[in-house]
Amino acid sequence: MELKQIVLNKRSGVIHTRDCESVKQMKGSNKHIELVKDVNQIENKKPCGHCLRKRDLKKIYKKEYKRRKKVLEERRKRDHKRVDQKYDAKQEKLREDYEESIIGLDDE
Ligand SMILES: [Zn+2]
Repeated sequence: MELKQIVLNKRSGVIHTRDCESVKQMKGSNKHIELVKDVNQIENKKPCGHCLRKRDLKKIYKKEYKRRKKVLEERRKRDHKRVDQKYDAKQEKLREDYEESIIGLDDE
């Protein structure tokens, strides 16, 4: 599952896959759909019960976690020693955020 396959109903706060039937059936005037480009857009949103499995969401969060972790590591390589402490704190924060975001996202 990729982020670009997720759409957010801005009015209801529910997230769907792009091909979800309930998105297709929505009347144009009721559509408040936005393509999701950033994982921050779906934090604290409700996954659609029909199209979106929690397992898929978990994959997305994991992918984002790895991406951010890599960014931190690249930065650390660049700046090295002087940021070691800062880096450790950021890593810890990142891990905590990730753990928090996947709470309840186990397979049903
Ligand atoms: Zn749906």
